[in-house]
Amino acid sequence: MEAVPPHLIRIELSSVNVFLWTGPGGPTLIDTGYPWTFNKLLDELKAAGVQPADIQRIIITHADLDHIGGLKGLTTFSDAAIACHAVEASFITGKRPLPVRRSLAGRILQLGNKAVQGVYKPFVDEVQTLLLDKQKTPEGFTVVYLPGHSPGQIGLFHKDEGLLITGDALLNRNDHLSLPPSIFTPNKEQAIESLAKLRKLDFETACFGHGPCITSDAKAKILAFLETLS
Ligand SMILES: [Zn+2]
Repeated sequence: MEAVPPHLIRIELSSVNVFLWTGPGGPTLIDTGYPWTFNKLLDELKAAGVQPADIQRIIITHADLDHIGGLKGLTTFSDAAIACHAVEASFITGKRPLPVRRSLAGRILQLGNKAVQGVYKPFVDEVQTLLLDKQKTPEGFTVVYLPGHSPGQIGLFHKDEGLLITGDALLNRNDHLSLPPSIFTPNKEQAIESLAKLRKLDFETACFGHGPCITSDAKAKILAFLETLS
């Protein structure tokens, strides 16, 4: 667990990050890890002084299993409202399968996804709050719609705290900024286009779906990375 002052805690579960917002409107959980890291998530929440029943809202950046895996388990302990982008909701309830790349690798991935979903049954019955681009949340975040890796992926921008949470629109694995892996990104062109939106936001700190947060000069570092894509 890593504090990202003043109001965010990064909880690393296996290789994926969950964020606990402890500021106004919270506690709010952002993403939920894998199904098999659920017990560790509960332990980490407890260590942070938060009971699952205290959680006001669970915001999902996108519906990949490493981000929704703890969601169903949490609903048994918590009445927290689940929020995600309107486009992503049907993937979180399992009404539609997430799209994959149109390739042999994509089809193999889809079969793998189906098999894992059959074992872990990660879907929830309902998403209570459907978010749209630029919408404000009670925590003071502004929704940043960043499709590409997933059709309804969002980032969360907190102007007052100079904080950006990217979901998997950008990764920082091994302290190295990157796009999400192509195999898991059905629309890579759109994923790159989406990142142009980050140029308009002012933030000092950035946190990612995978890898450590960047706590100083994050915008300049991300802009430098975006230059390497063009
Ligand atoms: Zn991920």
